[in-house]
Amino acid sequence: MATLKRTASDDIARTTPHKIRRSAAEAPKTGTRTVAVHVGSGTEKRTFDIYQDTLIRHSEFFKAALNPSSNWMEGQQRSVSLPEDCPQNFEILFHFLNTGSIFASKEDDISGTSSTSCPLDLEWGRLTECWALGQKLLSTTYKDAVVDTIIEKMRTSGRFCSNLHEYPCQNSTPSRAFRKLLVDVVVYRWSQKTWAEIGDGLSSFPDFLLDIARAQSKISKKGFPTTLPWAGDDCTYHEHMDDGTPCYKTLF
Ligand SMILES: [Zn+2]
Repeated sequence: MATLKRTASDDIARTTPHKIRRSAAEAPKTGTRTVAVHVGSGTEKRTFDIYQDTLIRHSEFFKAALNPSSNWMEGQQRSVSLPEDCPQNFEILFHFLNTGSIFASKEDDISGTSSTSCPLDLEWGRLTECWALGQKLLSTTYKDAVVDTIIEKMRTSGRFCSNLHEYPCQNSTPSRAFRKLLVDVVVYRWSQKTWAEIGDGLSSFPDFLLDIARAQSKISKKGFPTTLPWAGDDCTYHEHMDDGTPCYKTLF
């Protein structure tokens, strides 16, 4: 007979209060029209039906694509194709748009060892790919939620990803807020051993290296704070602080 295994996330779900009674004004403003978003290509291709108003609220990319007065075919057909994107990663965005949460961890994410002798955890890479998808789709809410997921993982696991910066810096230009987190991970968590093992790789990202030098210079004057900079539950690492849009936490 199959045995149901109790997990840490079950415990969190049981102990976190859920507000069931809310005002009608708080109801999700989804509208009734949906858009078919086709993601991936070939046999991997999947279609996600999403409320148009939800897509527009969370993504400047979809807002432009679905604008009926624009010349984009997508706006007239209510259909958008993203052939180069990964359906599995888009599914994480799909669930975020519906719930405000990031469902990205998997049971078998941790296996073997990485080059830095730490357990290899596939969730870190998946989260940075999610951030890159948010960057491509111009979704500040999604990027901020992904950043909070990275922070929560660091807090609850006590671990960090020493090369968290690599994928975002190689494939995009991280915003000021996300770059601050990537810099703080190096400044506050890298040991001498980490520097010896992978520090040379930072020479590929001179601007990032300069930010690290500036942050370390501030610490050498003021000293290390008693708590890690991501200990608070605030918007320190949120991009909406710079672009003036609402925090994703207020939209769900
Ligand atoms: Zn915020």
